[in-house]
Amino acid sequence: MKVCYPGTFDPITKGHLDIIQRAAALYDEVVILIMRNPGKRCLFSETERKMMIELAVSSLADRDRISVQIGSGLTVEYARSIQACAIVRGIRAVSDYEYELLTATANMYINDKIETLLLIARPEYSFLSSSVVKEIGANGGDISGMVPKEIADLVKTKLLEKK
Ligand code: ADP
Repeated sequence: MKVCYPGTFDPITKGHLDIIQRAAALYDEVVILIMRNPGKRCLFSETERKMMIELAVSSLADRDRISVQIGSGLTVEYARSIQACAIVRGIRAVSDYEYELLTATANMYINDKIETLLLIARPEYSFLSSSVVKEIGANGGDISGMVPKEIADLVKTKLLEKK
């Protein structure tokens, strides 16, 4: 069975990567979905984000069952179009839960055949978000423990360029 993991991934963090690995342990195929969102200003382009995710998953044992796509429109519609049975999301705190509950319920309204699977963040990553990485990195902090090792230098360079 195939699932999709939608998000912004600006950039992918170790928390995202952990969710990807756990989803791959449960399902045959995981499609990471970079959803186009004109309302969100991103640091990295869609192509850069896709390339960074591909680099990050390239060293995983399950890499052959993991792919990355860029999508637009309704996530649940996109999930249906690629025959995914469920949408995977991660939960770090109660604040995430409120948003995810609302989104999952709205998705259910649109298509009740596609389930939402909420995976709980590992405690060591429960503080971690792309925004935290950007904030710390832009101020010269060490982000190497927060993003996959394959992309650490790329992220650091981009953040310092932006200063
Ligand atoms: P979005 O803008 O759609 O929330 P993100 O890239 O910020 O995109 O997050 C994608 C998904 O990954 C969300 O479900 C989010 O809660 C989850 N997530 C983000 N960071 C972590 C983390 N450190 N641990 C577990 N899940 C996470």
